[in-house]
Amino acid sequence: MSETAAQTTKQNPLEYVTEQLDELRAKGVAPKLRVLEGEQKPVCTFDGKEVINLASNNYLGLTTHKALRKAALEAVRKYGAGAGAVRTIAGTMKLHMDLEEQIARFKNVEACVVFQSGFTANAGTVSAVLGKDDLIVSDELNHASIIDGCRLSKATIKIFKHKDLADCERNLQETANWAGRKLLITDGVFSMDGDIAPLPQLCDLAEKYNCIMMVDDAHASGVLGRGGRGTIDHFNCHGRVHIQVGTLSKAIGAMGGYVCGSRDLIEFLYLRARPFLFSTSHPPATAAACQAAFTLLDSPKGERLIKKLWANTKFFKRELKKRGFRFEGSETPIVPIHVGEASKAHEFSRKLFEAGVYAPAVGYPIVAEGKARLRAIVSAAHKREQLLRAADTLA
Ligand SMILES: *Cc1c(COP(=O)(O)O)cnc(C)c1O
Repeated sequence: MSETAAQTTKQNPLEYVTEQLDELRAKGVAPKLRVLEGEQKPVCTFDGKEVINLASNNYLGLTTHKALRKAALEAVRKYGAGAGAVRTIAGTMKLHMDLEEQIARFKNVEACVVFQSGFTANAGTVSAVLGKDDLIVSDELNHASIIDGCRLSKATIKIFKHKDLADCERNLQETANWAGRKLLITDGVFSMDGDIAPLPQLCDLAEKYNCIMMVDDAHASGVLGRGGRGTIDHFNCHGRVHIQVGTLSKAIGAMGGYVCGSRDLIEFLYLRARPFLFSTSHPPATAAACQAAFTLLDSPKGERLIKKLWANTKFFKRELKKRGFRFEGSETPIVPIHVGEASKAHEFSRKLFEAGVYAPAVGYPIVAEGKARLRAIVSAAHKREQLLRAADTLA
């Protein structure tokens, strides 16, 4: 083949990516990233436009709280910018151990391990604890990080209908004689509908069928239970959940995820959870900011913030209901505004943004096809008049 012939036949092996992207753009379901200028606040500037921010998971306004900033800055001064290694080699700083002990005390469990994110906490834990001969019974709306963890474990996966206890039990009955280990797993608060798992009843089932019980409390941490201790505390299910996952990236205001449980579970994860073994630990600033956040949560100031969050949630939902909105199921500050078709949801979100309110559209693959929606999240930091203006604009 001559050189020119080789060139004319040269193909781009990634051509299909461009084709698929063009299709998504044509359908109107390929939104651009919104770029935040300045701080993550209830009113802030994305793409040069000031909007009321109903898009973040910053439930308590801690991303910009002065106690967290101060702790982070001090940690940078004292310990530098990075940890320099994975936890199992040289990257375990005293800050990391202190944070784990603080969270374990807060959650009233034996021990805690902190991961780089909630995502890696779920994916790393499920895949470390279970293997190919095991069984997982999982709510159909569980978070992607649980789904990926389940797949990585190579266990058999049974999905039950969302919060459907009868369907869950049917799956457990059918597998009652399963030879391997069994895990029952659920989100505590479901991130797209804002509803709460029927935890006491799921614990009953886990106990009846001898399952490990695991709860992902990413959207419940700092939101539900005393001082934001999560759904286990909210339902008083202490001692009934073997593996509790939480995130440090949402209400806690920084970044990371954690697993709480028995001392042996945590020591086992230190040895077997792959994100823990193969990915560098948090920078000192992150660990220090998280410590400051838990200190705050455990104080009267934290209680006041959580109270404010729930008062704002009730207020916003009431104002939306007055304007004819319905969001059955939502029991938390997550307010889904159902649209149906993804392209319409994206268009609605775009127009709303132009009118000064940011609530992102979520469509497939984040939610099922035909179930696209806007998702608005209330925070403790919103002012009543901002929530009123947002409700008016939405209407
Ligand atoms: C956000 C979320 C996670 C991931 O947490 P990150 O710390 O952001 O990685 C896990 N589970 C659920 C249910 C979530 O909503």
